[in-house]
Amino acid sequence: MTTTERTRTYWLEHAWLGTHVEPGVALTVSVSGSAAGRDGRITAVHQGTPAPPPGAEILRGLTLPGLANAHSHAFHRALRGTVQVGSGTFWTWREVMYSVADRLTPESYHELARAVYAEMALAGITAVGEFHYVHHAPGGTPYADPNVMGEALIEAAAEAGIRITLLDTCYLSSGFGEPPGAHQLRFSDGTAEAWAERCSVLKERDHARIGAAVHSVRAVPADQLATVARWAEERRAPLHVHLSEQTAENDGCREAHGRTPARLLADHGVLGPRTTGVHNTHLTDEDIALIGGSGTGTCMCPTTERDLADGIGPAAALQSAGSPLSLGSDSHAVIDLLEEARAMELNERLRTRTRGHWTTAALLRAATADGHAALGWDDTGTIEAGARADFTTIALDSVRTAGPLPRLGAETAVFAATAADVRHTIVGGRHVVRDGAHTLVPDVPQALARAVSALRA
Ligand SMILES: [Zn+2]
Repeated sequence: MTTTERTRTYWLEHAWLGTHVEPGVALTVSVSGSAAGRDGRITAVHQGTPAPPPGAEILRGLTLPGLANAHSHAFHRALRGTVQVGSGTFWTWREVMYSVADRLTPESYHELARAVYAEMALAGITAVGEFHYVHHAPGGTPYADPNVMGEALIEAAAEAGIRITLLDTCYLSSGFGEPPGAHQLRFSDGTAEAWAERCSVLKERDHARIGAAVHSVRAVPADQLATVARWAEERRAPLHVHLSEQTAENDGCREAHGRTPARLLADHGVLGPRTTGVHNTHLTDEDIALIGGSGTGTCMCPTTERDLADGIGPAAALQSAGSPLSLGSDSHAVIDLLEEARAMELNERLRTRTRGHWTTAALLRAATADGHAALGWDDTGTIEAGARADFTTIALDSVRTAGPLPRLGAETAVFAATAADVRHTIVGGRHVVRDGAHTLVPDVPQALARAVSALRA
């Protein structure tokens, strides 16, 4: 394996530097000789470069740090469209979701995830947090390699050119004191100890980190929560948990344990600065203080939360209490982090009938640096020397984005652009998307169609 270093120069017509749009920025990026490597870092940022230096790769439009999709269940992409027919609740939606989970194999999941992660790259996403719980064969029998499903996801991300944090999820029960149901057998390792033993075999690599997840307080018995928390603590790994997405879950938790999910998680050592609560929707004032005061993050998934009729979580109050915010496309009703960012602000506007709860800079921080930090990629998500060379360029000359002054490019990107405006995506200093086309997966729509139809058969 060669270790030769090479230097590349990117010229950014406009760059988001965390506080403002800067015109004419040249980035020097150092990458290793390995063609598949994703290890490139920004070594210098030259502002005041009005014209591209000779030999530079030219990125026209507004270049943002790479977007982090902090909460994903890749297989839910197969439900798009299907679940929009008829009425119901989260719980009826879940039945349809389980029917797809039943059909996944290591091969079909790899094929679907590769296409879904390629769709993410086309949307400017450079890192995904995959909340992964379909571990075993239907009925719960482990595969010959008990991590074959997780490995399929890690491999899919490599082939689609993005980073992944595999949040290997502990899922042991169907409800408080209830064994797993028929559909859930393949999610369960039996005990948190067995879960920990299986996950300990997973190895990190250039593009992949390993983290942990507690599916929810209904899926992990209270006396086993500490085992998962300890596993993450020992590795200083990210730990995610679905937290208070549904009121029925809160009611069940109060009945079984006499306290809220947030209180239960706090009492068993699950909350803390490396932990992220996903959704954090139905909270008491004490819950907000517990989450914020412990530095636990909040991953909002607004397009899923509205799609599943979950409700609107108190993101602004959580952030004020000390909880860093990140964003995820979760069920992939759509994959568009710009939409997630603006939806968080727009939901709050609808609820309060006032505007401007977050600045554009704060929304972009959730979509970039804080999202990466929630996934354990602390050195990613900013355009500065030393950061990983992960960035994405949004067109400012499309039908959606043409018109505003370039210095308002960030407002335009967050409040008017869509994933369709993503022109380039660079991961580790290498183009994964160039001029709107994926460089590694030749026909992403066809790959999605093929993978989804295989799961419908
Ligand atoms: Zn989820």
